[in-house]
Amino acid sequence: MTRESADIVIIGGGIVGLMTARLLALEGADVMLLEAGDLGAEASGANAGSIHLQIQCPEFAAYGEDWARAYRPCLDFLKRSQALWTDLPEQLGADLGVRLAGGIIAARTDAQMDLISAKAAIEAEAGVETEILDRDDLLKRAPYLSPEVVGGGHCRLEGKADPLQVMPALARAAVRAGARIATHSRVSDIAPARGGHVVVTACGEVQTGRIVNAAGAAAGRIGAMIGTALDIKGFPLQVTVTEPVAALVPHLVYSAAGKLSLKQLANGGCVIGGGWPARERADGVLVTDPGSLAGNMGIAAEVVPAMARARALRSWTAWVNGTPDWRPILGEDPNHPGVIHALFPWVGFSAGPMTARVAADLALGRSSPVALGGLSLLCD
Ligand SMILES: Cc1cc2nc3c(=O)[nH]c(=O)nc-3n(C[C@H](O)[C@H](O)[C@H](O)COP(=O)(O)OP(=O)(O)OC[C@H]3O[C@@H](n4cnc5c(N)ncnc54)[C@H](O)[C@@H]3O)c2cc1C
Repeated sequence: MTRESADIVIIGGGIVGLMTARLLALEGADVMLLEAGDLGAEASGANAGSIHLQIQCPEFAAYGEDWARAYRPCLDFLKRSQALWTDLPEQLGADLGVRLAGGIIAARTDAQMDLISAKAAIEAEAGVETEILDRDDLLKRAPYLSPEVVGGGHCRLEGKADPLQVMPALARAAVRAGARIATHSRVSDIAPARGGHVVVTACGEVQTGRIVNAAGAAAGRIGAMIGTALDIKGFPLQVTVTEPVAALVPHLVYSAAGKLSLKQLANGGCVIGGGWPARERADGVLVTDPGSLAGNMGIAAEVVPAMARARALRSWTAWVNGTPDWRPILGEDPNHPGVIHALFPWVGFSAGPMTARVAADLALGRSSPVALGGLSLLCD
């Protein structure tokens, strides 16, 4: 068994862990990232690639305006993260599939239109502008939509990135910056030690002064190792990609009728998701739920009729990290100075760059670049 040391240990090699490792290494920190499996092999590499900014409509409909107002600090956070996404391809010197053509949300009834308008008013209070469009203006801007739409909204800052390009580029950039990375090194215990902690894996132990918990859906288990209860867990989701079709949809498309995110890749394939649940088998393996697949494709074809003719090529599944009220768990552990939790739920791909910025600053002993009160569950 090996025994190593590092000033900072990052647990988890998803978007948050890798981005934090890169930022810390760029500043000359001695950083080691421990990943249980392969880099980017969980939610960060398997997500739908939406760069979200607006409040998700199904949750707004389900939880209401008070919830949405409490979520406003997250909108500001997502806006800052979007700005970081804009710069990322140049910083990494790689095409990450970042395209920010805006998000379109479509309504087919007046009640859905009211929902979009009420949501947009709360978004505006947080500095996120969603332009409300009548039917004609919406169809001019998004002619691929069903003629049955009655109107919608356009949030110009939204867009997409390709997780399959992002994650390998991030891994290369973190190593280039000087981060040490150990894959297939699942953390099984964290023990207090002089000057910090000893982080234990099957491959060895690492003595460290600071720890960043970036373990995504499994972050609660890392919290439990130091006696901190974190209200985060995994929820199984699925996404589907169609065969390539002619260039049609430049936007990220949503429906006010239910769960949908739809975008077209550079190769013409359309990625269709929006939070539809996958199924967990008795042996713990995730499989596609046929009911979710039918529901997801159905709502996609309702909003973008051309989707009814596009054949689904492949569906895949992954665990998303979820907190009950959608707010992040971000900041230093109240009982364990030097342990930083870096967990942004549900839309953590969009929030990844800013989550990593906060985690890196805290790990370097600086204050957070954004106020964590009201934002992070750790500050309640
Ligand atoms: C199907 C699906 C679609 C999604 N679509 C979108 C979207 O379109 N837009 C968006 O913004 N978000 C989306 N999300 C959410 C987003 O992908 C996640 O919120 C985000 O990727 C979380 O990143 P992370 O780095 O925190 O966690 P992860 O990517 O889950 O990484 C955590 C890493 O920690 C490792 N780990 C866990 N336990 C240990 C341990 N004990 N020791 C060492 N390593 C450990 C894991 O192996 C994993 O690699 C989607 C999620 C899913 C599942």
